[in-house]
Amino acid sequence: MASNVEHQDLIDPFGRVIEDLRISITDRCNFRCTYCMPEEGMKWLDRSQVMSFEEIEHLARIFVERYGVRGIRLTGGEPTVRAHLPVLVEKLAKLENANGPIDLSMTTNGATMRLVAGGLREAGLKRVNISLDTLDREKFARMTRRDQLDNVLDGIVASQEAGFAPVKINAVIERGVNDDEIVALATYGREQNVEMRFIEFMPLDAGGHWVNDQVVGQEEIVEMINAVYPIEVMPARGAAPADRFRYLDGGLHGDATGPGGKIGIIPTVTKPFCGDCDRVRLTSDGDFRTCLFATKEFGLLAALRSGETDDEIAARIEAAVATKWAGHQINQVNFTRPAKSMSQIGG
Ligand code: SAM
Ligand code: SF4
Repeated sequence: MASNVEHQDLIDPFGRVIEDLRISITDRCNFRCTYCMPEEGMKWLDRSQVMSFEEIEHLARIFVERYGVRGIRLTGGEPTVRAHLPVLVEKLAKLENANGPIDLSMTTNGATMRLVAGGLREAGLKRVNISLDTLDREKFARMTRRDQLDNVLDGIVASQEAGFAPVKINAVIERGVNDDEIVALATYGREQNVEMRFIEFMPLDAGGHWVNDQVVGQEEIVEMINAVYPIEVMPARGAAPADRFRYLDGGLHGDATGPGGKIGIIPTVTKPFCGDCDRVRLTSDGDFRTCLFATKEFGLLAALRSGETDDEIAARIEAAVATKWAGHQINQVNFTRPAKSMSQIGG
């Protein structure tokens, strides 16, 4: 039954209604992707600094019941390294706003999905995005610093078998690293019946090695795929970050609307979608961020732990959303990298 508490929209100064909350549930990870983390030397949060399941649920409930947030995505770090994850999923899956249950999803590197997919699905997780940047075992080991390609490929199959639909695959494309595999990844998506999503490399790597030349932009990705598998752009879907394209031949599974019949591109750098952004984030230590690239955070966990009421925490959320900027400045000279990197923020 949907919550009978009418919600109030959470609206930023540019009229965007906040509907999507990304929650990082850990800063730790079993991979060390070069575009995200250094090989060694990450400073991990102390366990006591990380939100407990009860604290995550408490804060998430405010977003869902008070502000009608529709989607919650669990991320990290690697969310599956968090012990007893199905317990958290079960708590969050019960949250409902005035329109009914939320859309609960997770982004994962997929390495342990063979072991955990069934339990997460049973607990109420609805969708998963799995990261896969290359189909070459050696390159995979170089990019993630872990020799785990087979486990990830099997994790993708396990996720499909567990009933997650659609399974989407995220590939960060870095020039000179895996841009030669764009078509191969598209072919994999068609064959495996998963929606491939190509992500432009963003300046959020902990090593700070990002330079603009390494970004392979949307136009280039589209050209490469279109030359082999003709595609056409699909109608925009509100605040979704990905521009979507469908294969003119409908893909290989006889269902042009199925996951293997389309691709998505997340053009954060070359074609920012900030104007439609309905997203906010909570880091694993309970700081609230109104943009991936925000340089200011608002301590909601600290407020909760200091005994503030839900009304007081809600006032902090509203004050924070009032500072959401029109868009990031990646392409401007005055762009300042956030102090935290992707795994610390929660991608
Ligand atoms: N560990 C999970 C995973 O890898 O899917 C979830 C967290 S990860 C930080 C979330 C997403 O951010 C992944 O799809 C990852 O590829 C992407 N990502 C990490 N660093 C990035 C960067 N510098 N630019 C673009 N995407 C990045
Ligand atoms: Fe871990 Fe995901 Fe970052 Fe890779 S991208 S190091 S899997 S958090």
